[in-house]
Amino acid sequence: MADRDPDGSVSGGSDDEEEDEEGKKYCLCQHVSYGDMVACDNPSCRYEWFHWNCVGLKSEPEGRWFCPPCTEIMARKKGK
Ligand SMILES: [Zn+2]
Ligand SMILES: [Zn+2]
Repeated sequence: MADRDPDGSVSGGSDDEEEDEEGKKYCLCQHVSYGDMVACDNPSCRYEWFHWNCVGLKSEPEGRWFCPPCTEIMARKKGK
């Protein structure tokens, strides 16, 4: 009883998300993140992060970058 930790902090807090960052799948290939990654600038992108290889990048894109699926969706929305 006397050895009870006074600040009794519970590790993890109230975050009950099950998703483990390390196990999260990204990219068109649905693999975990590794090596160089690029983020899609579409906030509603379903993948968010991509391996450079998978999207044909050889270097960091300048400015905004949209993944192939988002590029296609936006092209369709714009019409024409
Ligand atoms: Zn990939
Ligand atoms: Zn995207």
